[in-house]
Amino acid sequence: MRSEEVFTKERLSFETLEKLGYKGYLLKDAPEKIVQFGEGSFLRAFADNFIDLMNEKAGFNAKVVLVQPRGGHPEAADRFSEQDGLYTLILLGRENGQPVEHTRAISAASRCLDPKRDWEKLLDCARNPELRFVISNTTIGGSITIDDMFRDGYQSVFVGAGLWKPRSLHIKGESLGHVAFAINYLACPEAFRLGERVIVIGSGNSAMDCARTAIRQGARYVTVFNRRDKIAASQYESSYAKLEGVTFEMMKVPVEILEDSVVFADSEFDEEGKLRPVPGSEKRYPCTGVIVAVSQELGGSIVSGTADIGTKPSGLLVADEDGRTSRPGVFAAGDAAHGARTVVEAVANGKRVAEAMHAYMQSLPMPEPSAFSQLPIQEAVEPSVLAEQVM
Ligand SMILES: Cc1cc2nc3c(=O)[nH]c(=O)nc-3n(C[C@H](O)[C@H](O)[C@H](O)COP(=O)(O)OP(=O)(O)OC[C@H]3O[C@@H](n4cnc5c(N)ncnc54)[C@H](O)[C@@H]3O)c2cc1C
Repeated sequence: MRSEEVFTKERLSFETLEKLGYKGYLLKDAPEKIVQFGEGSFLRAFADNFIDLMNEKAGFNAKVVLVQPRGGHPEAADRFSEQDGLYTLILLGRENGQPVEHTRAISAASRCLDPKRDWEKLLDCARNPELRFVISNTTIGGSITIDDMFRDGYQSVFVGAGLWKPRSLHIKGESLGHVAFAINYLACPEAFRLGERVIVIGSGNSAMDCARTAIRQGARYVTVFNRRDKIAASQYESSYAKLEGVTFEMMKVPVEILEDSVVFADSEFDEEGKLRPVPGSEKRYPCTGVIVAVSQELGGSIVSGTADIGTKPSGLLVADEDGRTSRPGVFAAGDAAHGARTVVEAVANGKRVAEAMHAYMQSLPMPEPSAFSQLPIQEAVEPSVLAEQVM
């Protein structure tokens, strides 16, 4: 089902949709039962899409307040609130082998807050007696581990932690000041001064993003060095990089990073088809900055801090098609389980795993309340000690 009437050049709002004759499901007013830390496209396409469906199909009757996790973008928060919290979701794919295309205006969100500016409004959400759920922004694997969550009554945990730790080359010079890692660089390119001659090591899609971003940041010569004979990025991504003036050096393995250059050796395939550097072929390639773009891995201590959770040699979580890991009750999907892929694949994978988690939780008995919850409350201690100290 493709609903053309949802597309408009006007600002999206309930009024605009009404004018366009939109026939899909819309929920205008409902209590704000959920506060969600994070307003990015993944949470909106995934979590908030499900809440919208729960509203439509199960009468959940809930609105979500979105909170920018780091704040500092009040204009973006206001733009979202001004469009009545509405946004458009386009879902393309296959269902039961048949191509499907759904376009839907999502009306689950009510507004977006910038916590730096809207702190009091955020506290009001916490005081709202209708509030039932917090989609939190807590790092798991630090002070709070997955084991702690099971101890505290969670019956099932979903790990969709993605791949956020840049892989390193483990060669000399990688910690020098003019060396950046791809995802750190892309998150805030303005924070790096890589100069006018940039070497990008690696040839995947992220490397292409880095090379093109470096050009926009003022680099005049950007070269991508690839250890193989084929570029790993899609042809689409690499051809745009070429069009923008990025040059490519193939079959080069980095050996050492120096202050003003990178040493590469030629690479060749041995009899077993393994890549190896050709001894004595090292050359120095001048540069003012280096970007290491050789993929990412699962970061933090989310795995090391969780008992009985299996990983593959690549560091990815072991999970079956329904996302079940080796630890009962822990499910995983997306890049953390299947390696660096795409948003669409992560969402499709997450949908399937959500159904498996639901079935798993339905099979469990309700958790017992704490044995201490019936203990009588101790009478409050008078604040006399404090009062005497003040005197
Ligand atoms: C530079 C770059 C460009 C890309 N471009 C595209 C593109 O154009 N199109 C496309 O489809 N895909 C693109 N991708 C891939 C896409 O981003 C991923 O495939 C997709 O986001 C994976 O979804 P996910 O839910 O598995 O993980 P993510 O989207 O990475 O989400 C993981 C979330 O978990 C959080 N997290 C991590 N560790 C913890 C923890 N210990 N506790 C709590 N939270 C944690 C993270 O902060 C993050 O919010 C790109 C990737 C990169 C790196």
